[in-house]
Amino acid sequence: MVGTLGAMALTEPTLFDQVVNLCKRRSFVFPSAEIYGGFRSTYDYGPLGVLMLRNVKDAWWRSMVQLRSDVVGLDAAILSPPKVWEASGHLDNFSDPLVDCTSCKTRHRQDQLDDADTCPSCGESGTFTEARAFNLMFKSQAGPVEGAGADVYLRPETAQGTFINFKNILETSRKKPPFGIAQIGKSFRNEITPGNFVFRTREFEQMELEFFVPPDEADSWYEYWMNERYQWYLNLGIPADQLRLRAHDDDELSHYSSGTSDIEFLFPWGWGELEGIANRGDFDLTQHAQHSGQKLEYFDQGTGERYVPHCIEPAAGATRSMMAFLMAAYDEEQVNDDTRTVLRLHPQLAPYKVAVLPLSKKDTLLPKAEEVLHSLQPHFMCDYDITQAIGKRYRRQDEIGTPYCVTIDFDTLEDNAVTVRERDSMEQQRIPVDNLVAYLNEQLAL
Ligand code: ATP
Repeated sequence: MVGTLGAMALTEPTLFDQVVNLCKRRSFVFPSAEIYGGFRSTYDYGPLGVLMLRNVKDAWWRSMVQLRSDVVGLDAAILSPPKVWEASGHLDNFSDPLVDCTSCKTRHRQDQLDDADTCPSCGESGTFTEARAFNLMFKSQAGPVEGAGADVYLRPETAQGTFINFKNILETSRKKPPFGIAQIGKSFRNEITPGNFVFRTREFEQMELEFFVPPDEADSWYEYWMNERYQWYLNLGIPADQLRLRAHDDDELSHYSSGTSDIEFLFPWGWGELEGIANRGDFDLTQHAQHSGQKLEYFDQGTGERYVPHCIEPAAGATRSMMAFLMAAYDEEQVNDDTRTVLRLHPQLAPYKVAVLPLSKKDTLLPKAEEVLHSLQPHFMCDYDITQAIGKRYRRQDEIGTPYCVTIDFDTLEDNAVTVRERDSMEQQRIPVDNLVAYLNEQLAL
């Protein structure tokens, strides 16, 4: 008898705790610098986390770059000079309103307080200082001499690296609007209130596309990217009732944006942004053109028209999305008298696609198991586990989302076939070793 409890049926704090606990226990995500007591709100991605995070980024790259002919990639520098951030407006505007509680000395983001007058840490009222703008960019020094000219900033978003390479790419890639530049990489923000595990951290990874279009096509491309991006999360297994597209109200819009919508996931504490899609107009290219003195525009030789392309930007968080995929996939179900924990991850996102499990660790089975493992490794990320009873090993794979387990038993030595068990249905099939790669390729449809 199999009865599904389902992620939605779990009480909400429990789901959060269970996922965080699983992440630590099964080496997805560790608190950083733990042997030194930890370093607040920074995390390290362990053996399984690094595989899954890479899969999230690969799935994005595949859909945004590999499967398209109108998008090229870029990997720009993380360190950048103040001029970039002057032009982008980040030096003046990339700040949150910060208040200090004079009673308990804690700091808060004023715009996130439930009650603007009461400190959520100590409960005192009327203890806040005046709000002041706190710039979120990390600043450092480059080179051996401190002082003017040596200031550098760690980028708070990847997008500006793309805008400042617009000219290089236009001149060298033979692309013309509409075309896009995709980038994945680390960004840094000195968040006042990091928290909720990897949802808001000071160091995180973004996946951003800047899509440059003729001005009169901006609205239709904005619609197009909203739908594309929403569909991407659905295709990778986020249930429709845990995903929504929310258009920003006019008072939420940046001054340069004529439209922004967020793709939001229903986290245990409520709806939270996974990605913003913004119609940024010609703001960024115009700003960088003015500050650099370079022409950042497109000249259409066919029509003789010269214009500054408008930009549609779908900007997603890789680390934050990974957390959403984990939350959505987490399930517990009753199997006979046992509770089975299973991560129902989309195969593209699962850290391991296949686990190779010899039924016993007797010498007679291991050479064959290793032979099967080596035949699969060039095709799939595989785990290999020889300890404990086979039932326990299946459960360990279920818990980390491995879609298929391949068991080598004593019959394998006679018939050269293996038992393949599917994660969600737990159904088993006998498959000849010679057909195994083809069979798994077909089932996984990666
Ligand atoms: P938020 O309102 O949550 O601070 P934002 O609107 O400032 O996010 P953007 O600048 O649009 O975020 O960045 C694009 C994406 O980058 C976000 O949708 C989110 O997935 C991710 N992101 C932004 N800040 C963080 C952070 N501190 N930690 C993890 N991911 C983040």
